[in-house]
Amino acid sequence: VLRAALVSTGHEVLRGDTPNTNASWLARRLTAEGLLVTSSRTVGDLLEDVAEAIRGAAAEADVVVVTGGLGPTEDDRTREALARAAGTPLALDAAAWDLVRAYFGRLGREPAEVQRRQALLPRGATALENREGTAPGVLGAALGRPVWLLPGPPREMRAVFEAHVVPSLRGDRRREPVAARVVRTAGSPESEVAAAIEDLMRGSEPVVGTHPDDGEVAVRLLARGEGAPARADAAAAEVARRLGPAVVSREEDVRVEHAVVSLLRGAGTTIATAESVTGGLVARMLVLVPGASEVFRGGWVAYSDEWKREALGVPEDLLARFGAVSAEAARAMAEGALARARAGIAVATTGVAGPGPDARGVPEGTAFVALAVRGRATEAKALRLAVAREAMQRRTAVAALDLARRHLASSP
Ligand code: ATP
Ligand code: MG
Repeated sequence: VLRAALVSTGHEVLRGDTPNTNASWLARRLTAEGLLVTSSRTVGDLLEDVAEAIRGAAAEADVVVVTGGLGPTEDDRTREALARAAGTPLALDAAAWDLVRAYFGRLGREPAEVQRRQALLPRGATALENREGTAPGVLGAALGRPVWLLPGPPREMRAVFEAHVVPSLRGDRRREPVAARVVRTAGSPESEVAAAIEDLMRGSEPVVGTHPDDGEVAVRLLARGEGAPARADAAAAEVARRLGPAVVSREEDVRVEHAVVSLLRGAGTTIATAESVTGGLVARMLVLVPGASEVFRGGWVAYSDEWKREALGVPEDLLARFGAVSAEAARAMAEGALARARAGIAVATTGVAGPGPDARGVPEGTAFVALAVRGRATEAKALRLAVAREAMQRRTAVAALDLARRHLASSP
């Protein structure tokens, strides 16, 4: 195995003002490249703290990746910290200075004098071109282990990682074959998904886990070692078989809205939306998918009772009797949208986003989604969502799209 340890630097990260997305991104990428990430440290800007973290990381891993603190200012001390961790002096590196000058040259400018700090490298270290910013990355060493210094801004970090770190790692025979797979599901709570694959989740090879993912539930699988791809494929196929109609896709970037658009295109039909609690989120999710214009007729945001009546024709006595947050109202909204948009199918959402109950005493987190289809009885689904407002709206939107997905996937 090839072990990697991460060090994130910067007071704003340490205090929580900047979410440490660099560490999660790097951990994921390194894992995908067949490394075993053994630890992730976060420190501030103090020279000795950064140096100590680099030494600690180098003592336990084969490769160290550090982010942040490569800028030109006084609080950017990572190069100096590496020099201290390695016990080598800093010296102006001609190649690093050329990279800084070249970056400014492309912008038609000259580097300021302070930028020279970015060319001060521990002796023996190598400067790495950063095409996205002024600060070159650095490859140095501590305790005989390679230490990669990457810029803090995520774009720059990713650019230097992909351009320099990945090609170098790929030459390392200690990497293990790894295969990551995902099975995306919607419409079933995480507990149900987990229960269906409990035995697979208890095993350790491949590692199988469920993760709530923006209203969906993703099952992720990671196999390691000889034969990893075949093991991962077999396990993913078994997961998909057990989860059946809940499975949205086996691709990272095919979510319920993508599945719905592609199924609608395949069926040559169209969709319309009638949204209360989600305030247009269902429509928004659809239009983010390329090709939505071929299948999305349009929709309504019918938030007030009056607008549900006027725009969608939801009967007044229905609203008086069942309330706007009811299966009956959701069905009437979907039918109103279907008829008015002359679409093939229509989905509707209604609910109480909270905090607190609505005027009729319906508790927060209650929602109904409905699906109307030409020539079929309109179906509705009740949801009880114990999450805050925005997450509740998101889950409701996913549930509405999932009704459409399940219908389209099961129709010939
Ligand atoms: P700069 O040249 O911009 O100063 P730098 O390499 O010195 O870059 P930092 O000063 O440590 O990097 O951080 C610059 C910015 O990069 C931070 O303000 C923050 O927005 C982002 N950043 C730094 N570290 C992280 C991290 N771990 N995760 C996500 N973003 C980060
Ligand atoms: Mg900085």
